[in-house]
Amino acid sequence: MKVLSAASELYPLVKTGGLADVTGALPAALAGEGVAVTSIVPGYPAVMAALDKAALLHAYPNLFGGPAKLMRGTAHGLDVIAIDAPHLFDRPGNPYLGKDGKDWPDNAQRFAALARAAADVAGGINKHYRADVLHCHDWQAALGPVYTRFLGGPKSVMTVHNIAFQGQFPATVFGLLGLPQQAFAIDGVEYYGNVGYLKGGLATADAITTVSPTYAQEICTPEYGMGLDGLLRARRGMLCGIVNGIDTDVWNPAKDSLIPSCYTARSLQKRAANKRALEARFKLEPDDGLLHGVVSRLTWQKGMDIFAASLDALVATGARLALLGTGETAIENAIFDAATRHKGRIGVIIGYDEELSHLMQAGADTILVPSRFEPCGLTQLYGLRYGCVPVVARTGGLSDTVIDANDAAMQAEAATGFQFSPVDEATLEHALCRAADCFADQKLWRGLQKRGMEQDVSWARSAAAYAQLYRNLVKA
Ligand code: ADP
Repeated sequence: MKVLSAASELYPLVKTGGLADVTGALPAALAGEGVAVTSIVPGYPAVMAALDKAALLHAYPNLFGGPAKLMRGTAHGLDVIAIDAPHLFDRPGNPYLGKDGKDWPDNAQRFAALARAAADVAGGINKHYRADVLHCHDWQAALGPVYTRFLGGPKSVMTVHNIAFQGQFPATVFGLLGLPQQAFAIDGVEYYGNVGYLKGGLATADAITTVSPTYAQEICTPEYGMGLDGLLRARRGMLCGIVNGIDTDVWNPAKDSLIPSCYTARSLQKRAANKRALEARFKLEPDDGLLHGVVSRLTWQKGMDIFAASLDALVATGARLALLGTGETAIENAIFDAATRHKGRIGVIIGYDEELSHLMQAGADTILVPSRFEPCGLTQLYGLRYGCVPVVARTGGLSDTVIDANDAAMQAEAATGFQFSPVDEATLEHALCRAADCFADQKLWRGLQKRGMEQDVSWARSAAAYAQLYRNLVKA
């Protein structure tokens, strides 16, 4: 089975978020399922630099405004096709934004090129490669299914990582796309008179996935669907949720070189040394009391405004907080103010620090994730793996991966964390109190930690689910 994966990000070549982690991890996980994944990505400078033993697969005299070459090679163990189109992709920095922090004005052309090249390759533009399935991720690759539907090609899968980003452009863009006129219609790219890339992908793909079963249900509702819920309801039979995994080699508390004290579920007492190190980094008073952790973008989506307003209540439960994050200025300021009010009890580091995020999971007692919506979420998965008990909003992937410590789940010895909903100060504060009460009984707390650590958060199950989906499509 050969699958061509099309996306604008691919870890470790180019990453701005969780999308890259997924497209970077799936090829290795799927190899074990007998699926050979080739990844097609824009030829950003970092991608071209990483490409090894590249051979020409196809040359376009004109791909959306200039000549382009499709170069196939390897990079970090991945089989990669880079779209070497300097007029579109030879730009340093963020893949979507110019130096002014605004979208590149030609993003419509740049990502139509990604999708067009993906559809061409998948359909066998070079006779040495043809894909059984074209798998497109997010709006940047979402015209892939549109091209295969209207111009021919294999079956397609469209995966939504976050429906908030849709790739909408004025109707004039349609003329550039090289699609037949009938593609500008309700079952094509037309979206309220404009061109919608993700809309087109969702309307034409043979299967639609998103990154958790709960998010799959949520995006069919007006509250979460961001205007695409009607289309998704109509295509509900094609939609399923497959939870992301994490790299359990990189995130392994038994062998993590980024933490002072490695441990397993049987030696949880060794976490204490990590807690001391974390307290020192965040200038917190050292003690054995409950220490909450946050590693997050400080944004509305993440519920961080509500969290900032709950910090006095957090300290009133007797707990402390170590927070690592960066984001909206108003939220950063509110958190700083609280840290000033509660010196030694609340420690804040503003910034993005991958290494420190390992210490947070290894040393804090909880990882707090009060998101308003969360397609899958990774931090709670790291938390489970590290015995850092997740306290999460009951939404999306958070709902699917954490089992709430209610009485029944505690009695059944199934609970792995705490959930609350809706996301407001009262419910969050109640969850913080529940966590503090449970922490007071260390035997119960150890049970939560151990069960979390036993949970399979690897890619194995998700890879099996994707492989099954591909097989079903090819059979159909
Ligand atoms: P999202 O992709 O919406 O930001 P996820 O939970 O899916 O949320 O993934 C966030 C990833 O980014 C996780 O790997 C998390 O550890 C990491 N992360 C977020 N903020 C920081 C930070 N300030 N420093 C280090 N890592 C961070």
